[in-house]
Amino acid sequence: MAALHDKFGRAITDLRISITDRCNYKCVYCRTGNEGALYGDLPFEDYLRMARVLVNMGITKVRLTGGEPLLRNGVVELVRELAKLKTQGLKPRSNNGFGDAAEAAPFQNSHGSGEPLDIALTTNGHLLADLAKPLKDAGLTRVTVSMDAVDPDRFARITRVPNGYDQVLAGIRAARRAGLWPLKVNCVLMRGFNEDQIIPFGMFAREEGVTVRFIEFMPLEEGRTWAPDTVVTLDEILARMAEYRPLVEIPHGRSETARRYRFEDGIGEIGIIAPVSHPFCGHCSRIRITSDGKIRTCLFSVWDHDLHAQMRRGASDEELAEWIRDVVTKKEERHHIGEPDFVPASRTMVHIGG
Ligand code: SAM
Repeated sequence: MAALHDKFGRAITDLRISITDRCNYKCVYCRTGNEGALYGDLPFEDYLRMARVLVNMGITKVRLTGGEPLLRNGVVELVRELAKLKTQGLKPRSNNGFGDAAEAAPFQNSHGSGEPLDIALTTNGHLLADLAKPLKDAGLTRVTVSMDAVDPDRFARITRVPNGYDQVLAGIRAARRAGLWPLKVNCVLMRGFNEDQIIPFGMFAREEGVTVRFIEFMPLEEGRTWAPDTVVTLDEILARMAEYRPLVEIPHGRSETARRYRFEDGIGEIGIIAPVSHPFCGHCSRIRITSDGKIRTCLFSVWDHDLHAQMRRGASDEELAEWIRDVVTKKEERHHIGEPDFVPASRTMVHIGG
């Protein structure tokens, strides 16, 4: 079977599956303070079948997300089942970005088929302390914890949850003890809420031995509060961190979303994910499945593609693969954040799966 790529020659190797759009946090950059309507979720067998079909098409990395994925009972079992899937040994030859037709088939067969799938999870960490070891034992490769302040009061103001800070910190430490390593901590910076946390997070990265990744705020929030000046940009983050300690850029892979930096003395690493000021759409290798089984080819898509409806009508795995291949050809070239023709995505982040 030919491996998956879009019409711009980008290899699609990275799948994100949202397993619920419920969340126990109401972070200011993501949600309003109110409980909104939910799209709902599916039995785990359905996500497993979707994953199996896509792994057979060249996906090498699956990230579980939400909503908050750890709210779903049985998530450890899901990871155990995913860990039984093996990649097809289809290695991307290049991810050449925009429209280079000369490399329109960016895969070549390697001899090493059957490698374990890379299984990652993004969580707010609230329930991680007890689940880190079972998840690791079940086959989870990596975890990313979202944490937007290293100060308990500020943390409560951002998440709208009192007393969450200590629990998340315990989750991070439990993940480390369980060997879920290297551990990434994601911090969305939003002006007026936490831009003063840049240096404290630099210290945190050094003290806890985690990679802290700052993410530029994107217009995917429920409250539609985004404006260009609410974004704390890569340049600003770097300038602020340099007041604390000198940084050295680490060379990074083309499809990596984060620019990486280490502190000059070799202790501690940070990353910056800058989709607004430095878009990386040309190297995007991702598609997403929402909790209700829709494929999204871009965070900023204005429509979904109903994979679960294809399953309900009784499509075989081969038919699903053909249908997915067609959907992937429709992957957007890039986002249009900040441009006059920007159209908001048809779903907000909590209902997509970040
Ligand atoms: N509940 C999990 C968590 O907190 O990590 C997974 C879902 S959450 C939607 C996934 C990621 O999206 C988190 O790192 C979160 O900080 C990020 N996120 C949510 N809204 C965002 C926005 N408007 N701009 C940038 N990142 C956002």
